[in-house]
Amino acid sequence: MQHPLDLFHFCPKCGSENFEIHNALSRHCSDCGFTYYQNPRASTAAFILNSRNELLVVRRAKEPAMGTLDLPGGFVDNEETAEQGIIREIQEETGIGVKEVCYLFSLPNIYRYSGMDIHTLDMFFICHVGDDAVVKAADDAAECMWIPLREVYVERFGLRSIRQAVHTFLQRNS
Ligand SMILES: [Zn+2]
Repeated sequence: MQHPLDLFHFCPKCGSENFEIHNALSRHCSDCGFTYYQNPRASTAAFILNSRNELLVVRRAKEPAMGTLDLPGGFVDNEETAEQGIIREIQEETGIGVKEVCYLFSLPNIYRYSGMDIHTLDMFFICHVGDDAVVKAADDAAECMWIPLREVYVERFGLRSIRQAVHTFLQRNS
């Protein structure tokens, strides 16, 4: 596997070329002593079911995996809790307000962005929304739709951790 700081050839503090791989997560500058770690990026995704047992899914508007299905969610901002992050992402991508958030499990993932492998830790939640919730796709979502659980096919989801999570979710809810 590629080192997470493979593309970082120079020390960001002093500009030295002697910015060497220190361990699996970091590089260290032997000239100025600066050490930089690339930790997994916190990310969220939501399972939202309505009273007809339909799952809310979105179609990805952007790369990676543009055009494939996804769960609503995204990166957690600095100074934000994971719960705040998933509520914000659902609002941005589908226009609906979340009433209740319940943590399920997490999965590591690698997200290819800008020619770099970004390691993420994806946290999955069950989110409850009002039955009158009207969805409207925006932001990173090209489309959003309610799909009956029995018609949810894992292979239509483009991101690895999302596929794994949907598989687990379907097993638990069938
Ligand atoms: Zn340096």
